Amino acid sequence: MSLARAWPAPRDGQAFDLVVVGGGATGLGVALEAAQRGLDVALFESHDFASGTSSRSTKLLHGGVRYLAQGNLSLVREALAERAAVLKLAPHLAQPLAFVMPAYRWWQAPFYGAGLMLYDLLAGRAGLGRTRWLQRAATLQALPGVQPRGLRGSVQYWDGQFEDARLAIALARTAQAAGAQLLNHTEVTDLQRPANGPSHVGLRDRLSGREAVVHARCVVNAAGVWVDALRQRPGTAHAPPARLVSPSQGVHLVVDRSFMPAERALLVPRTRDGRVLFVVPWLGHLILGTTDTPRPDMPREPQALDEERQFILREASAVLARQVCLSDVRSEWVGLRPLVAAPRPNDKATRQLSREHTIVQDDDGLVTVVGGKWTTYRAMALDVIEHCMQHALLPHRPARHRDAPLLGAPAPTAHALHAPPGLHLYGTLASEVLACPGAQRELGLGLTEAMVRYAVRCEYACTVEDVLARRWRALFLDAREARRMAPAVADILQQEGVNDPALAEFTALCGHYLPEGL
Ligand SMILES: Cc1cc2nc3c(=O)[nH]c(=O)nc-3n(C[C@H](O)[C@H](O)[C@H](O)COP(=O)(O)OP(=O)(O)OC[C@H]3O[C@@H](n4cnc5c(N)ncnc54)[C@H](O)[C@@H]3O)c2cc1C
Repeated sequence: MSLARAWPAPRDGQAFDLVVVGGGATGLGVALEAAQRGLDVALFESHDFASGTSSRSTKLLHGGVRYLAQGNLSLVREALAERAAVLKLAPHLAQPLAFVMPAYRWWQAPFYGAGLMLYDLLAGRAGLGRTRWLQRAATLQALPGVQPRGLRGSVQYWDGQFEDARLAIALARTAQAAGAQLLNHTEVTDLQRPANGPSHVGLRDRLSGREAVVHARCVVNAAGVWVDALRQRPGTAHAPPARLVSPSQGVHLVVDRSFMPAERALLVPRTRDGRVLFVVPWLGHLILGTTDTPRPDMPREPQALDEERQFILREASAVLARQVCLSDVRSEWVGLRPLVAAPRPNDKATRQLSREHTIVQDDDGLVTVVGGKWTTYRAMALDVIEHCMQHALLPHRPARHRDAPLLGAPAPTAHALHAPPGLHLYGTLASEVLACPGAQRELGLGLTEAMVRYAVRCEYACTVEDVLARRWRALFLDAREARRMAPAVADILQQEGVNDPALAEFTALCGHYLPEGL
């Protein structure tokens, strides 16, 4: 039996050097790093690539200004270098973005400006532009829509922004081109490690219900907030290890760009209750966020708490000239941060605290990687592969092609990510999309029939949700419009040979992305 898809897929009983569990930023980064070294890799993702946290980030490539305040300068320096690397790897999906911090009190601009000068200094040659102070008039010009009452000026600094779900697909396709085999909608259901010999990895295709087993010398658990389910699975010969993840949720609200028709982002470094608020132009809309609320239950589709919505609306309304109401929200999405729980004294696992992320090797040999952020996915992948080689779980192979552009890069023309979505998001692959039937037929929000066909043929899309949530960000931009587009997308998927595009499930899901329902 094979877990068949339209692309090369693992066969029942096939053996690999490495099996990666989870197709978010972390797992895809690990699969790519391993494949580029010439290792035999398979990656299994239970739902869709990036359908967990990795499509629900604030879309910022950043060094972590907050670590400056904690004095963790080496962490900031590393993330800034990674920021620069990602910008080079996929310029059609990751670009520099100016951030403006409006100042309403006399001390704010000099205070935050001084910290940001240090940020520039740490970036060194990886810097994207100098921090500078803007007068009131220049601030109003830079941020049309900002609250002018009491505005004194601002500080502008540089970070990056990206399209997280499409970057994940670019990673997956680049890994596949390097020899990795990747399957979405395929859950790792079991893991057995005999005393001698490779691990047996049990799989279930969630679309067909079919099951299979593959073998691996080494298994890396990159299941995000869900890593502990695999670590603590029943039936292991060893005592279940202590929980590693302590998730927290972050809410984003998407509103019309007319609230702030700027080409720069706005940052409130300290809200009235001491948090951070971003207003980020993205794909022709504005993202407002985010929050930080403990969420131990880890649902697949977490919902915002009313107080989280109220916090975002209140703080955005305080800094924008126009008040933002719940009825203005076009989409609301929530991500779970895979934060690493504090180690317990009786935790016997080999716990290696490394930068922001943690690598743990349990008694049964399972290597788990968790934490970090999207920006540092490459650094995490490097650490994981080096850990596995040092512990003789993988054969030694030198790193190769780490700085090679991802599939679709370099972009033929620079096109801003804050502009409405279009063909430019495919980079050099745009001509392949145009070669599919229906290039002139637009279904909404810039998505064409040809793009849907391309998503099925070349981008692993299997359901309406895969297309409208992640290959194209319709659900994340405007849930009502996504619901309207869904039947046409389902129809095209069926023409492309998809038996059940799960239209009803997607229609129901759209209701979760609107605070007031559909
Ligand atoms: C609100 C919020 C905002 C953020 N903003 C930013 C930002 O602006 N910039 C930044 O750099 N970082 C940001 N981050 C952090 C970043 O998004 C995460 O660190 C990163 O996406 C985590 O990726 P991951 O692969 O570890 O987890 P995930 O993306 O969750 O991937 C894990 C995958 O494993 C799969 N899985 C689980 N169990 C199994 C199984 N048994 N078999 C197969 N597959 C399985 C899941 O379906 C999931 O897709 C943000 C995070 C949040 C929550």
